[in-house]
Amino acid sequence: EIRISGVSKSFGALKVLDDVSLTLRPGSVTAIIGQSGSGKSTLLRAINHLERVDQGFIAIDGELIGYRQDGDALHELKEKDILKRRVDVGMVFQTFNLFPHLTAIENVIEAPMTVRGVPRAQALAEARELLARVGLAAKADAYPRQLSGGQQQRVAIARALALKPKVLLFDEPTSALDPELVGEVLHVIKELARSGTTLVIVTHEIGFAREVADHVVLMEEGRVIEQGPPHRMLTEPDHPRTREFLAKVL
Ligand code: ATP
Ligand code: MG
Repeated sequence: EIRISGVSKSFGALKVLDDVSLTLRPGSVTAIIGQSGSGKSTLLRAINHLERVDQGFIAIDGELIGYRQDGDALHELKEKDILKRRVDVGMVFQTFNLFPHLTAIENVIEAPMTVRGVPRAQALAEARELLARVGLAAKADAYPRQLSGGQQQRVAIARALALKPKVLLFDEPTSALDPELVGEVLHVIKELARSGTTLVIVTHEIGFAREVADHVVLMEEGRVIEQGPPHRMLTEPDHPRTREFLAKVL
C-alpha cells in the first residue's frame, strides 16, 4: 500500500502541492487528471523522492520514501539509501529517456545489474521475458534510434519493470507519441493493470482512464479536488470543478 499523507510542496512562493492525501491499494490503478500546472508531475516525482516535500510524508508498505524516522523527527536518507528505496517505485516518462548508446535489451538489464547486482545471464533472461511481454522480443538488439516512439516507450516500460517495483508511475506516457502509436502503449499498460501491477498514471486520455483505472483523482492548483471510481468521477462527478474540467477535455 502506498500512503501519501498531507503532502505539501512549494517552489518559492508557488504552492504546487497543497495538503495532498491519497491511499493506493496494492494492485490498484489510479489515474491522475487535471489541467496543466496542477501539480500532477510534481506529485509523481515526490512519490519517487525525485522531489523533496516540505510537509507530510509518503510511505510504501509502511516504509517512508526518502526519510528515516527518529522519534518525531524525519531525517533525509543518504543518496545511496534513497537510490535503494527508489527501486520500489518505477517511473515511465513522457519522453522515453532510453540510453541511446545501448540496445533495447542492454537498456533493460542496466539497472538490475548496477542497482540490484543481478548477474548478467539472469538479467538477460529476465529482460528477454519482459521484452516479450511488451511485444518486442524481436527488437532486443535494436538501438533506440532504430525503434519507433511507441516501441521506445515499450522498452522504457520493460526497463522500469526490470527492477520489480512495487508501484509503477506513468507521466503522460503517450503524449509524445504520434496518434497511431498511442494504442500499442496503452495496450501494454492495460495488460499490466490486468496482471495486478500497482499503477499510477497521469493521463489526458479520459477514455483510457475510464477503461483501465479503478480510482480517478482530479488535481487543481496542487489540491485533490475530487477522487473516486471512474464511473462516478468521469460520468457524473459531484464536484462542479470536475464537471468543468471534463467539459473542457472531452
Ligand atoms: P502538465 O500537465 O503541464 O504536465 P503538471 O500538472 O504536471 O502539468 P507540474 O509539472 O507538477 O504540473 O507543475 C506544477 C507547477 O509547479 C507549475 O506551475 C510549474 O511551473 C511549477 N514547477 C514545476 N517544477 C518546478 C521547478 N523545478 N521549479 C519551479 N517551479 C516548478
Ligand atoms: Mg506534468
